Amino acid sequence: MSQTESPRLTVIGTGYLGATHAICMASLGYDVVGLDVDERKIRKLRSGEVPFFEPGLPELLAKTMDSGRLRFTTSYEEAAEHGDVHFVCVGTPQQPGLDACDLSYVEAAVRGLAPHLTRRCLVVGKSTVPVGTAGRLTGLLHELAPAGQEVELAWNPEFLREGFAVDDTLHPDRLVFGVASEWARARLTAAFQPILDLGTPVVVTDLATAELVKVAANSFLATKISYINAMAEVCEATGADVRDLARALAHDDRIGGRFLQPGLGFGGGCLPKDIRAFAHRAEEIGVGQAVSFLREVDAINRRRRSRTIDLVRELLGGRLDGARVACLGAAFKPDSDDIRDAPALDVARTMHGLGATVRVYDPAALDNARRAYPELRYGTSAMDVARDADVVVLLTEWTEFRQIDPAVLAKAVRHPRIVDGRHALDADAWRSAGWEYRALGRP
Ligand code: NAD
Repeated sequence: MSQTESPRLTVIGTGYLGATHAICMASLGYDVVGLDVDERKIRKLRSGEVPFFEPGLPELLAKTMDSGRLRFTTSYEEAAEHGDVHFVCVGTPQQPGLDACDLSYVEAAVRGLAPHLTRRCLVVGKSTVPVGTAGRLTGLLHELAPAGQEVELAWNPEFLREGFAVDDTLHPDRLVFGVASEWARARLTAAFQPILDLGTPVVVTDLATAELVKVAANSFLATKISYINAMAEVCEATGADVRDLARALAHDDRIGGRFLQPGLGFGGGCLPKDIRAFAHRAEEIGVGQAVSFLREVDAINRRRRSRTIDLVRELLGGRLDGARVACLGAAFKPDSDDIRDAPALDVARTMHGLGATVRVYDPAALDNARRAYPELRYGTSAMDVARDADVVVLLTEWTEFRQIDPAVLAKAVRHPRIVDGRHALDADAWRSAGWEYRALGRP
């Protein structure tokens, strides 16, 4: 194909990132094949069902399936035959018991695809990986692909946020192209032309820098969250109010208010594992000291979870054992069903382990939570789990919870006590409705 012709795309790994990428690229007019090794996921996608909760994605899937430009497969042979540009979107979780990133899925994807690559094409990593991974994968590709050096590797890190994934994909703040040649740059440009035509800024750089941009961005965001949560710890010791503190800081343009909300801290399938993997990788390559602060960022974040449980215990007069606790939220953040490293479920499970009877409700993540933690109890609504509760704990700031009428909920509980782990509620309104209200970092 010519340099300017629209490339045919494959997307390998159709999870939160890959399914969104495949569907969005097809919606832009590209001919896309999505591949996953999980047959259940592929069956669902083929039948027009998005296998996870993401606002706007089911409608876009329906529209693109009708266009005939989007197919799903489990066959690497079919994917290799189809694609001019292959996006690798498989998971890169934390290794069990270690901080290091598990690269086995990325390697398996390359090993699955490469033997079928018989013509010139571009393989593009989108997964978040430790710096240096692309260099190693280039060697593997050249070794295994029949087309040899004709197959090139590029890195195009992804910044989408769950809950905003469609808009973030179609209107990203920026694109980053990590490339080793002018040909690869031109191929990536063609693969993102409609998005570039919107005036989206693009940073073209080398492979290592592209890999690093992603972990540097996530480290910055995690640090900002832990910074304000560290201030919350100081507020707790001094009687100061971290909400007012954060509001005052946010008026300074140089600081800004985003990611400066105090509370239970970050979780999910990205920030926690990415900062740990980055700290680990930096140590491996002899620059551990440069990012050693990330260990503290992680520690501050974990302490918010135990401090939330302390607040619950304080409200209960010192004992969790035998208490009935209603947990509002399970997902790691609102507008998502993702429970990977979810602070909400961590807190719920710890309280269960301390002898409390814990009932959890979440608008989207209940199925995932039930599968992962069958030992917890689950309910069908906030009202349902709050019935006869000794204390309510807000753990994920869904809009639905912000809109609860405290006077109505007060009628369901045994004792009107609430810990607002996300600073999501109007403290005055809840207190006026008779609730004992506590929040991290506030008197
Ligand atoms: P996910 O677990 O939802 O999806 C990964 C998918 O890869 C799964 O469907 C799995 O079955 C599939 N897979 C595993 N091995 C495979 C193989 N050998 N061949 C084909 N498919 C295979 O994970 P995710 O959240 O989509 O994350 C994927 C990557 O994107 C990670 O590196 C993550 O850090 C990064 N990322 C995620 C987000 C996000 O918001 N979820 C945002 C930016 C970057």
